[in-house]
Amino acid sequence: MRDLRLTRRHLLVTAGSGILGVTVLNTVTGCSKSTGPATPASPDAARTASAGATGTAAGDWQRVNLSFVSAYLLIRGDEAAVVDLGTDGSADSIGSALTAAGSGWGAVRHVLLTHQHPDHAGGLAGVAPQVKAAIYAGEADVAGITSAQPLQPVKDGDEIFGLRIIGTPGHTAGHISVFDPSTGVLVAGDALRTTAGLVGPDPKYTADTAQAAASVRKLAALGVKTILPGHGEPLTSGAGDALSKLAASIKG
Ligand SMILES: [Zn+2]
Repeated sequence: MRDLRLTRRHLLVTAGSGILGVTVLNTVTGCSKSTGPATPASPDAARTASAGATGTAAGDWQRVNLSFVSAYLLIRGDEAAVVDLGTDGSADSIGSALTAAGSGWGAVRHVLLTHQHPDHAGGLAGVAPQVKAAIYAGEADVAGITSAQPLQPVKDGDEIFGLRIIGTPGHTAGHISVFDPSTGVLVAGDALRTTAGLVGPDPKYTADTAQAAASVRKLAALGVKTILPGHGEPLTSGAGDALSKLAASIKG
């Protein structure tokens, strides 16, 4: 028996131009032995999943808030890049955000993983089967990421989809950040956090704190205007100044 269940979720999708509250209906299909009443599903209900958000202009970004960690969508015309994939099981939430942005997994050509930790790369298991995308990670982290398809190793200075790879080792040996030189947007992974003002990576989970501090100083020299961290809220004003101050204050 085919059972159609709907799960109502509320995702906060933060766009470059503002904040959009998006109600997302995740459709789960499959066989079910449950004897409980099935939630009625109507095509009308499913259609509302993509309502409420508009497409993005060139250079825009969107945050997919996956609770304690975020993924980011960078949509350019008909193509999209996704930076980080959250924990295992995040594929549906990211897919719903892509749909809400007028895109979808089919448009994703590039998946970039800032580092190997499971709260950033864990979603790959669910994403890999539904994308025809190149999947990239920093050279030294590739071996630490479980993937059904080969990962493309990247290094400092590589360019992908108009985005510059910045090698930011320390939190992990192969940690990368993703910088858009045309907009000053930096997707920082765990090289920076905004959980208590702008700070560097959590020393508890950082392999080499001195190297991580050097990476923060390197990021401060880029001319960053917006910081999109893995943990904490996007920093969209005063980001360059805050980063310079942080770089001057940290030891290591
Ligand atoms: Zn991490």
